[in-house]
Amino acid sequence: MRPFILVVEDEPPLQKLLAYNLGAAGFEVAAAFDGEEAITLLEERTPDLVLLDWMLPQLSGLELCRRLRRRQTTAHVPIIMLTARGEEPDRLRGLDTGADDFITKPFSPAELVARIRAVLRRVRPAFAEDVLEFHDLRMDLAAHRIYRGEQEIHLSPTEFRLLRHFLENPGRVFSRNQLLDRVWGTDLDIELRTVDATIRRLRRALNIEDRPDLLRTVRAEGYSLDQTACA
Ligand code: CA
Repeated sequence: MRPFILVVEDEPPLQKLLAYNLGAAGFEVAAAFDGEEAITLLEERTPDLVLLDWMLPQLSGLELCRRLRRRQTTAHVPIIMLTARGEEPDRLRGLDTGADDFITKPFSPAELVARIRAVLRRVRPAFAEDVLEFHDLRMDLAAHRIYRGEQEIHLSPTEFRLLRHFLENPGRVFSRNQLLDRVWGTDLDIELRTVDATIRRLRRALNIEDRPDLLRTVRAEGYSLDQTACA
């Protein structure tokens, strides 16, 4: 079953680009320019996920988000908000928006698709896929194999779990403590520098040939899987 995504974005070029990229990634897509049009489309068919621009004319993204949460048919539909730089997702998360995730513009199509898949997996396990993808990285969970482009990558079990965590949460920064917690488990007495060492090994394993580095080190914060790391 192809997940059905409703895109609400008032800028025509961006709406077109989003619809194109999501269609290419295998999603079914409907697009609306504003909140009113979105509600009309929602009444025809309930989407599996709504990609919602924060800045919309008339009915704002925030208000539409709240309305969707109040409607019986859309109360549980996952919502990803698109925000402009400077609108700080962390601050928005604090507002009671009801959104499941925030993506800051500009973003890469690969990151967008990965984030949508991550939210769908979390909210609707029926959409869970056996393959996690980011950029030219592909993790086949069923076969327990990882590829960078065509080439297979071999990882230790911990490196595999660490990479899986990043692939399930692309673009998000995790502190070393959070990674210890989620990848190693809380009951183990492991030092923070183990995280750095494992990241180093993972990076070495992934950066075959002259492929760009996908693991970003955020000074004093932690690490993320991020295409901007290529720059
Ligand atoms: Ca807009």
